[in-house]
Parts: sequence; C-alpha cells; structure tokens
Amino acid sequence: MTTALPHIQSYHAHIYYDPAGPSKDEAARLRAAMGERYAVQMGRWHDVPVGPHAGAMYQVAFATDLFADLVPWLLLARGSLTVLVHPNTGTPRADHMQHALWLGQVLPLKAETLPEHEAPEDIPPIVPNTTPAQPR
Ligand code: ZN
Repeated sequence: MTTALPHIQSYHAHIYYDPAGPSKDEAARLRAAMGERYAVQMGRWHDVPVGPHAGAMYQVAFATDLFADLVPWLLLARGSLTVLVHPNTGTPRADHMQHALWLGQVLPLKAETLPEHEAPEDIPPIVPNTTPAQPR
C-alpha cells in the first residue's frame, strides 16, 4: 500500500551566487537567458541571506508544466552556479529539506526558519513577469 503524496502546486528554483565575486555576473547572465526563454516569476536579488537560505540568491517561481523544460535547461545552463529546486506542496520544511533537488554543490539551509505546514491558500499563485522571446 502506498501513502498519497502531497500535491505539487508550483516550484521554486533558487540561484545562489557570491555578491562580491564573478558568480554574480554569471547569475545575471543566467537570469537574463532564463527570462528570454521562459514565462516565470523572477524574484529580486537578495545579496543578504533571507529565510532558510544561508547565501545570496534570487528566486524563480514557476508552474509545474514548465518543470520538464526548465529544469533540464538549468542543468546545462547553470555553469558553476548552485541551484536549489524545490516543490511547493504546503509543507515548506519537507519541501526544502527532503524533496529538494540540488544542481551543483549542496548548501546548508536553516531548517528552523521553515514552518512544517502552510495553508494551500498561502502558497502564492505564479504570476510570470518575464517576456520570453527566444526559442528554447
Ligand atoms: Zn523557495
């Protein structure tokens, strides 16, 4: 017998970089290339760590139907950047700590900042703010 798995409402990709190093330029190039190809909700730059993230990063929120396209693209396009991909299922701690996918180095996360549960209505809908013009 299998237990029903939680429903994935959306995904985040967190792109990590060093705010004082060349990886910020690499992160900027990846951000531009992604925005040219995919309708995603591009978050702002966080040069100072926020929430569970121990390093600088920006967040990319995307709908489930983009996963099979966007994640393989990130595998190849990320260069030397570390990327955390996690689902949003209403269980933030498990989504980050157990159900996550790391591209590159696995970085520490502050699990204690993540609630165990969040209400489905608290998971914001994806509102793309990029205007893809390039072929994938
Ligand atoms: Zn996230």
